[in-house]
This record gives sequence, structure tokens and C-alpha cells, in this order.
Amino acid sequence: MSLANKLSAERRARLAAERLLELKQAELSAANRKLGRHALALTKQIGETQAEVETFRDEVATVRDENERVKSDLTVAHEKVEIAERRLWHSIQTIQDGFAFFDADSTLIGANTAYVNFFEGLEELVPGINYARILQLMTDEGLVDTGDLNPDAWRAGMSERWLEPNPEPVVIRMWNDEYIKVIDQRGHDGDVVSLALNITATVRYEEQLKAERTRAEAANRAKSSFLANMSHEIRTPMNGVVGMAELLTDTELDEEQRLYADTIKNSGEALLVIINDVLDYSKIEAEKLILHPEPFDLERCVHEVVMLLQSSARDKGLSMLIDYDLFFPTRLVGDPGRFRQILTNLVGNAVKFTTSGHVMIQVTGIPGDAGENCAVHVTIEDTGIGIPSDKVQHIFGEFNQVEDERNRQFEGTGLGLAISKRLIKLMDGSVWVESEEGKGSCFGFKVNIPQADGPQPIPPTLPEGLRNVMVVDDEDANREILQKQMEQLGLKVTSCNSAANALAVMNDDIGLVLSDHNMPDMDGLELAEAMRTNGWSHMPILLFSSNPRSAQNDPARRHLQGVLQKPVTRAELFAQLSEVQLPLPQEAPVPTTAGIEASDVDNSLTSPIEPEEPATTTRKARIHIAVPGADVSQPEGPEPNSTNTKYMGPEDNSEPEPPSATGANLPLCKETPRRMRVLAAEDNKTNQLVFRKMVKDLPIDIKFANNGMEAVTAFAEFEPDLIFMDISMPKMDGKEATGEIRRKEAESGDHIPIIALTAHAMDGDADGILAAGLDHYMTKPLRKALIHEQIANHCPQDAEPID
Ligand code: ADP
Repeated sequence: MSLANKLSAERRARLAAERLLELKQAELSAANRKLGRHALALTKQIGETQAEVETFRDEVATVRDENERVKSDLTVAHEKVEIAERRLWHSIQTIQDGFAFFDADSTLIGANTAYVNFFEGLEELVPGINYARILQLMTDEGLVDTGDLNPDAWRAGMSERWLEPNPEPVVIRMWNDEYIKVIDQRGHDGDVVSLALNITATVRYEEQLKAERTRAEAANRAKSSFLANMSHEIRTPMNGVVGMAELLTDTELDEEQRLYADTIKNSGEALLVIINDVLDYSKIEAEKLILHPEPFDLERCVHEVVMLLQSSARDKGLSMLIDYDLFFPTRLVGDPGRFRQILTNLVGNAVKFTTSGHVMIQVTGIPGDAGENCAVHVTIEDTGIGIPSDKVQHIFGEFNQVEDERNRQFEGTGLGLAISKRLIKLMDGSVWVESEEGKGSCFGFKVNIPQADGPQPIPPTLPEGLRNVMVVDDEDANREILQKQMEQLGLKVTSCNSAANALAVMNDDIGLVLSDHNMPDMDGLELAEAMRTNGWSHMPILLFSSNPRSAQNDPARRHLQGVLQKPVTRAELFAQLSEVQLPLPQEAPVPTTAGIEASDVDNSLTSPIEPEEPATTTRKARIHIAVPGADVSQPEGPEPNSTNTKYMGPEDNSEPEPPSATGANLPLCKETPRRMRVLAAEDNKTNQLVFRKMVKDLPIDIKFANNGMEAVTAFAEFEPDLIFMDISMPKMDGKEATGEIRRKEAESGDHIPIIALTAHAMDGDADGILAAGLDHYMTKPLRKALIHEQIANHCPQDAEPID
């Protein structure tokens, strides 16, 4: 091989090597560049990761710090909780009452020593024990006195209570006579906190108080009983004093003697009122006063009270008005004696504290059916001195009165209203007063009492054609009541405040005149005369009089259809209205000719029940002229509701009077009639004397019995027509004696009227007396007029009549 070849080969080899080198260098550069880029990216990545690590490190540091803080806080909190728990527990331990808490499964979580001590060191009583087991331990170990309950029943009761959402506190009596009051409070999640208070001291104190209260009440009752007995004892001789004084005033006395006798009588009566108040009050205090409900007539009761007080009212020139709702029942069930007492007090006060004007009693209410309750609402209004507003409540207290000059001109004990209030409360009612000083007062009370079975007064069937009536009364209140009543009956009313006014407005439309008796200038009787002479010859006129006896005796009586006692009872008013004889149309008015007495012409028409006229003539004339088509076959004799004898008292016409009440039915008999026989059973000699003197002028034979046994004997031997029976008598009291007499009568079928004489309410209340077979009762002191009235009312037909 040539050198050139060799050189060329070598050169070629060298060039190839150089190219390979260049290639490798280029590859190397490319790899370097890639590596550089990679290194750069890696560096960047490392930088970022490093930053993240830094941040993380910071965060870790922060968290670590926080952890440290929380840990320390927790330690502090834990320490605090421990302190609080320790203090709480310490407190719970120091309280002397038992304290325990249970979880929702009734497992004891903890209890203080006091609680544990109730269990007398029972080892079982530790946290973890169940409530049911605690109850079991209490009975098994005899820790609790279960009283009347057996242990099972006691536990059952306690468990039942425990499960209630809000268990009521319960008092447990422990074996050692200590009393524990257990109060359990259930939380929302079912936990129960139980508090056991030792209330032994309180229970002992209460027992002591109760014993002392019982002792005090017994002492108070004893005091009231003593007072009641004393006042009862004082009454007996006082009855003698008052009775004798009354008799003395009936004898011939000179002026001075009469003054003395009247003073004794009035003072005695005033003292009796005080004694009665004290007696009643002591009875209420001694809880001896009970109500005796029975059917009674409230309207009649109101009228009786008004009649009783009418003379005092009349003396002062006061008018007494009754406005008893026309459609309200009158027969109710209540204690009539107590109703009378309340009314007497309230109406009596109204009269006492009123010097001019009127006293008005209003009765309204909501009726029920027979046997059902009626709401009775009674008000007593007066135009008297009134009561200062700051004293209105005060006066209902015991012995409380208005202490001012005007008020204390009047006597009184200050007990009346207190008694009335207690009585009304006893009836479950309420009492109130409204008053304006100087203007008047209005006392009211309401009670709910049943309506009695049986008929109630029903509004009258008015005569056909009666549309318009005239009411004449100078007194506004009176006129308004009557006007209201007439309007309630569907009548049109022409209202006049004087007789002159009545005459001026009288007209053909009017079918009936209702006139007051006593009016200034021209009274009701003069008005009747004037009507007749003015041509109203047949106009029926009813006169309302507070003194009907004088009206009955007046010559002008013949012009009247009837005379009614004022205030009039509803039954009386209804009876009179349904008897009104309307004038025939052509008869009114017929002016009378001068010289001819209207009364001569009209007597039979306008005064059909004229007492002095023979009944037959009167009735025939009336039937013939005034009531065409009336039943002429009516039997002769006094009619029901006849007007000649019925106006004198508040009698309810619905109840028939005893046949001989007025002596009107006496047969004409030429022989001298026998004398009525009256037996009086009375152990007190003074009362016997008073009684004897009171009836000495009557044509009767009187016999006295000193006790009930003598009364029974005298009943058989003396054959009395009437017996007055004292209730409290030695050997046999009045009720027993009456029972004995009634038994004897059962064989013969007779019934002798027996009237009880009672010393106020002490000897028994009305229904006890009536239940014993007595027919009626009167309270002492004996009143001559009332005794005469009773004797007259029961005078038999074959005996000499009593005037
Ligand atoms: P008494 O009338 O015996 O004083 P009450 O208890 O009946 O006792 O009345 C107490 C007092 O109430 C009376 O004293 C009187 O001051 C006052 N009072 C009662 N009713 C009226 C009345 N209608 N008008 C004015 N004051 C009255």
C-alpha cells in the first residue's frame, strides 16, 4: 500500500473520526442543553418545594403553639372544674337536707351525706343503686312509716310518682317520727335531682298551731254559747217587762204615767232588738246557725216586713214602695225566717236613716222552672242620709257604724249588717251597697234559690175591652211602678200626678182608674166622688191605700170597685184586675142630673160588694147590668177574692183562709153561742200573767198549762179550739207535747191549730217547729194585737165571734 494511499486512508480515517467527533460533540451539547434545562426545572421545583416546606413549617409551628395554649387552657379549665366540683360537692355536703341525683335509668349518680344518712348507714346505698331498690330497702328495713298503706302499695305509689314528668312533692314519715319532704325535679335528658327536706319542725309547729286553733275555736264557741244562753235568759224576763208595759199602756193613765210606761216599753223593745242581734251573732259565731229551707212566698215575706215597718215609716211621712217583678215567681225555697231577718234589717235601716222621701224594695231575677234555681235580686233603695264613700265597706263589719253627727242620732248596735252579710253568705249569695252621701243608699243582695213546686201567681185575664187605664198618684216612684206593671200587662197608661190632672184628661178610652188614696188637694176618695159627679158614673175605680180601713169606712167607698192595701201584693192586684167591671159602651159617660146623687143611681153598679148591702141584690144588679152574659148561676155567698174583708193584710189569695177567719160565714143563730176555748202552755208565770191580761177582754175561756205534759192532759179534758204552745218548757217541751197531741188526733181525724211561742230563733227554727206538727209560730215578746188576730182567725163558727 502506497504512502499516498496510506496518507489518504489515514486522512479519510481522520476525517471520519473528526466527523464522528463533531457528531458526538453535537449530541453531547444537545444532552448538555437538555440536562441544563432539566436542572433548571429541577431547581425551580426545589425552590417551590422549599417555599412550601417553609410555609408548612410555619404552620406547624403555629399549630404547635396553639396546641400548647389549648393544652394549658385545658389544664386550667380542668383545674377550675375540679375546684368547682369540689366546692359544689362541699356545698352539697354542707346543706342539711338530703340531695341526690339519678341518671335517666334511675340509677343513683351521687348523694350527699344527709341523703345517705336517711338510710341509717345501709352499705348498699352507694352510687349505682337503682331508685326501685332504694324504695325496697326503705320498706324492707323499716325506715319509712307507710301509715295505712301496706309496703307494696306504698312503693307502687312512690314509683308511679317517680315516673311522672313533674312529680308532686311528697311528705314521707320516717320510722323515728321525722317528716321528710321529697322534691324531685326531672331534667330534659331524664336525669332526676332529688331533694329531701327534713320538715319535722314545721310539721310539729303546724300540729301545735292546729291544736291551739282547735282550743281557741272551742273557747270561742263556748264564749258564743255562753253569750247565746245569756241573751236567751235575759230575753225571758225582758218579755215580761215589755208585755206588762204594753198592758200598762192600755190602762187609764195620766200623761206622765203614760210617758213612763211608753218609755219602759220602747226601751224594753230596743233592748230586745239588741239582745236578738247579740244572740244571732253569737249563734253564727258558735256555728250553731244553720239554714232551714222550705217553700215560702218571697213576695209575701217582703210585704210582711213592709207592713211591720209601715207605722214607723208613716210616722216619718215616708212612703214604702214594693216593685216585685210581675213575671217573677213568688214561691221559692229558702229559709223564710232568715230572709225576713235580712229584709227587716235592710229595710229597717232604710227607714231609720231616711227622714223624707221613700224606701223602695225591688225584686227581680231570672226565673227557673219548678225545682230549679232562680237568681233572686233584691234591692232596697232609700232617699236618706247616705253613707260616705270611705265607710261603705266598713259598715258591714261587726259593731261598725258611720261615726258622724248625722248618723249617730240613730240608735243601733252595728251588728245588723254584719249578721245580714253572714246570712247571705250562708245562702251562697252576695250583698253590696251603693250610696251617695246626702242623697240616699241602695243596698242589694242576690241569691240563687230553687223555685218551689206548685202554682205561681199568674197574670190576670183582663176584662175584654180593657185597653187603657189611668194611674193617679202624686208620688212619682209609686206612679212609675204601677205604670210599668200595667204596661207589662199590655195596657196603655194615662199617668196623672194629681186628682185635678186626672179629671182634666179623663176620656172615653179609659176603662179603669187606679188611684192613690192620700194625695194633696184632692185625695183618691174625693177624686172618685168628682168622677161620679162629672159624668163618669160607671168608671171602675180601684183605690190604693196605706190605710184601707179608713177608706173602707168612708162614704165615698161606694164609688170604688175595690180598696187595695198599699203596697199591694201581686196576687191581690191580679185578683182585682180580673174582677174589673167595665162600663157598657153606652153607659160611659152619663152625666148625672143635678139633684140626683150619682151614688144613688150607681150604687149597685160601682160598688157591687158594698158590705151593708145584701149580697144577692148587689150581685144580681152587677151581673145584670155590668156583665152581660156572665154566669148568673154562680152560687151565692162571698166570692173568692171578695173585696170586703181582704185588704187588711198581705194575705196571698191563692191560699184559702180558714173558714171562720172573719166570722163572715157565721150562721144566723138566735141561741147564745159558746165561748171559744183557748189553751196556753207556758211555764213562765210572768208570761202567763201577760198572756192572761192580753186576752182578758176577749169572749174566750182560757186555760193555762205549766208544761207540755199538762198541755197534753188539758187537750183531752178542756177540748180547746186553739192552743198557744211555748217551745222550751220543763218535763215535756212544746214540740214533744204537740207530737203527743197530733198522735191522739190521728185516731179522731181532728186537727187543732197549735201556735208555737218561741223566744226568737233560739228555741228552734221555723221548720223544726213546723216539722213537729205546729201550724204556725210567733216570737216573743207577746203582742196583744197579734194574739188577738190569731184567736180571731181560729175562732170556730159555733163560738161567739171575736172582733
Ligand atoms: P245599726 O243600724 O244597728 O247601727 P247595722 O249593721 O244595721 O247597724 O248598720 C251599720 C251602720 O251602717 C249604721 O249604723 C249606719 O251608720 C250605716 N247604715 C246602714 N244602712 C244605712 C242606710 N240605709 N243609710 C245610711 N246609713 C246606713
